[in-house]
Amino acid sequence: MLELPMALRLFNTMSSQIEEFHPLHDREVRMYACGPTVYDYGHVGNFRTFVAVDLLRRFFRQSGYTVRHVMNITDVDDKIIRNAARDGVSVQQYTAKYEKAFLEDAAMIGIEEPTLVRATEHIPEMAAFVATLVERGIAYRTDDGSYYFRIAKFPQYGKLSKKDFSGMLDGARVDVDEYDKDSARDFALWKAPKPGEASWDTSIGSGRPGWHLECSVMSMEELGESFDLHAGGEDLIFPHHENEIAQSESFTGKPFARFWFHARFLLVEGEKMSKSLGNFFTLRDLVLMGHKPSSIRYLLTSVPYRNQLNFTFDGLKQAAVSVERLRNFQLRLTSGTFAEGSSSEMKALAAQAVERMTAALDDDLNTAQAQAAIFEMVRQGNAGFDTGGIKKDDVAPLLAALTKFDEIFAVLDDDDGPKMKRVLDWAMAEGRDKDVSNELREAIQSGQLSEADIEKKIAEMRAARAARDFKTSDAIRAELADAGILVEITKDGIRWRRK
Ligand code: AMP
Ligand code: ZN
Repeated sequence: MLELPMALRLFNTMSSQIEEFHPLHDREVRMYACGPTVYDYGHVGNFRTFVAVDLLRRFFRQSGYTVRHVMNITDVDDKIIRNAARDGVSVQQYTAKYEKAFLEDAAMIGIEEPTLVRATEHIPEMAAFVATLVERGIAYRTDDGSYYFRIAKFPQYGKLSKKDFSGMLDGARVDVDEYDKDSARDFALWKAPKPGEASWDTSIGSGRPGWHLECSVMSMEELGESFDLHAGGEDLIFPHHENEIAQSESFTGKPFARFWFHARFLLVEGEKMSKSLGNFFTLRDLVLMGHKPSSIRYLLTSVPYRNQLNFTFDGLKQAAVSVERLRNFQLRLTSGTFAEGSSSEMKALAAQAVERMTAALDDDLNTAQAQAAIFEMVRQGNAGFDTGGIKKDDVAPLLAALTKFDEIFAVLDDDDGPKMKRVLDWAMAEGRDKDVSNELREAIQSGQLSEADIEKKIAEMRAARAARDFKTSDAIRAELADAGILVEITKDGIRWRRK
């Protein structure tokens, strides 16, 4: 068997330690991430977690594994049922809109689509799961037709969250999905229907599944009884993941997920994000303000997933500059002219960047260090341009290092313009014209010309200047400026960037 060179080390919430990661199945990683509850548009905190999981998935693949990545869509819960009833539509009609929006947003921010599983499409399996737990005396039915998990039957309860539940009351119950963080209660597996609310008729009676049950049943169905990694935001450790473990391990008698991967909650401008503080932003809000999807993705990845990320507008501007710097470097490589030959210095620079990037990501996904490594290459590479130190044969290794970086970070494609245009179209269709900023309109305008279009114009400018036709050159420059492209004429030639 081919020995994998990688040695990925990941923090495992279960052991509270950094451990070497090895999958259970040879070269295939099986991972499950708790997905969104589709009752509203996703906010920047949600995407902090989803982007962290996307990075992990991409890095597994870059490290030589194939990846089976499953994510659930929670398309039934208390809020959804309540909102659907309020709006007089079915649960499916209500959630379809937000599921679509979630998938569009995830694609906009460079998240590769996992295998999606929907709670409402697995109801009979969930009922059968509950029936088995009842047969074994681990779950019980109450008079109203709800079912609860008897925590006293799972002595290891609390092993993930490290909470001590030794004094808990046998038979004390809770029937909401989120409950007092420090009290252990028998939790609802299945909820009896309430008048006027959606429910399903099943082998255990009518009702609807609890949120925890969904993830246990669907993850094991897709990935097997034991799989490699389970992910989510840190708020899910307790009770959600603790309950998933209790249900699943009671059911199978086997360890459920091996690694537990949790992303730290983000702050916005130093505070916990909340609607009342006015610092609550959906991804679409940020784009409507004129921020590029690539800047948002870059900022979300700039702090390692276990560290607190403070999302600020200054940070977002800085992220835009960083992305632009990377894209410009790439453009200089692909459009420049170089002397024949190669320089050992540049080759070593590219090799070192790749090595440092991989080492950083192997180190519990240290994204900040990986970004620092590529920027060191860009800094020295730019100096190489200015002194003629980059030769023709150096271009390929430098570009390859950028590609390797972008396989993980996914910000180099110059496609913000069309993505932002789609958000603009959506806002207009929703009657949210007043939320569309001038910055968004300008960004779309500047993003409309593709790199190839701009390069063509720059080539025309060069030709005009060579023929000393400065009038034509100035006209093209003005035309580009109107389209949001800044052209700089330096002693080394013509350079451009988006405003
Ligand atoms: P939800 O749609 O509320 O179930 O959340 C979807 C995902 O986003 C879960 O993994 C949450 O843990 C995560 N999440 C929610 N809020 C934040 C936040 N402020 N920072 C990071 N992750 C979050
Ligand atoms: Zn879950």
